[in-house]
Amino acid sequence: MLAYTYIEKGKFASAEKPKPELIEPTDAIVRVTMSSICSSDLHIKHGSVPRAVPGITVGHEMVGVVEEIGAEVTHVKPGDRVTVNVETFCGECFFCKNGCVNNCTNPNGGWALGCRIDGGQTEYVRVPLANQGLNRIPDSVTDEQTLLVGDVLATGFWAARISEITEDDAVLIIGAGPTGICTLLCVMLKKPKRIIVCENSEERRRFVQEHYPDVLLTTPEECKDFVLQNSDHGGADRVLEVAGVEDTFRLAWECARPNAIVTVVALYDQPQVLPLPDMYGKNLTFKTGGVDGCDCEEVLSLIEQGKIDTTPLITHRFPLSEIEEAYRIFENKLDGVIKVARIISCSIPVF
Ligand SMILES: [Zn+2]
Ligand SMILES: [Zn+2]
Repeated sequence: MLAYTYIEKGKFASAEKPKPELIEPTDAIVRVTMSSICSSDLHIKHGSVPRAVPGITVGHEMVGVVEEIGAEVTHVKPGDRVTVNVETFCGECFFCKNGCVNNCTNPNGGWALGCRIDGGQTEYVRVPLANQGLNRIPDSVTDEQTLLVGDVLATGFWAARISEITEDDAVLIIGAGPTGICTLLCVMLKKPKRIIVCENSEERRRFVQEHYPDVLLTTPEECKDFVLQNSDHGGADRVLEVAGVEDTFRLAWECARPNAIVTVVALYDQPQVLPLPDMYGKNLTFKTGGVDGCDCEEVLSLIEQGKIDTTPLITHRFPLSEIEEAYRIFENKLDGVIKVARIISCSIPVF
């Protein structure tokens, strides 16, 4: 089967690989029916994920159909349509039991798929610890509706949850990329008084305006003044920093009112400065990433009820044979791309 592979720093390429087989009794084999591209794939390509293993198939955002299960897999069965979680977690350790699955202490835990083991930019994928890593897709919901459940939407849902948003709050979201918009969708569920999105790209501001007309929009340059004018207590009550570029961390705490919660979802390339003397007396609470992707069941139910819809984010579709072009468009942010769906365009070869 064709697999899009991390060759070495700076290089992904298609390679021919055998269909994966069950290794552990907790594994499942999933036939990938749709997958997406995440900016973390590009972090691997650019060499900023040291634990990424050269030779692995990339891709960690996918949905599919369960093909085969190990003896200890009880949560799903062959034939089930499933979402695949970006995180591999055991469900039994101290952190898993407390919902902090990102910190699972299992040696196979954490971001493994498409990083340390073969991922989903291919036809079949082996999912370890499948009882935790797979969630059944409700019958009335399409693959495309659930494509982002296991990663960016899980991140947005988690970010909104830990930010403790109330209906009295003015919420500032910095960044309207795919994760920023997923965060916005989940913040909207909390019905805060006001939502302000700060985004540098005019194209993306237009996207937000078009799809979510109630959201207030600003630019990084105007953000501080704009938030002051549009909040009741001298700044945002909740700030969710999802951009992760130069100066957005500073912008996040500067736009927060005293005693606000600042949730840092972004993954930075560089260390950030926490100028405590400057923020003394502001009494901020900081919460930092990465995602605990253990709410997928709830997210799937919200999609089924029509309360979350990420389909407008999927702007481009490609077959596996054109995966290189799909990555080129996503990496260079060409043609208004937000999210790419890699679809199946021809019959699946059987091995
Ligand atoms: Zn990702
Ligand atoms: Zn665990």
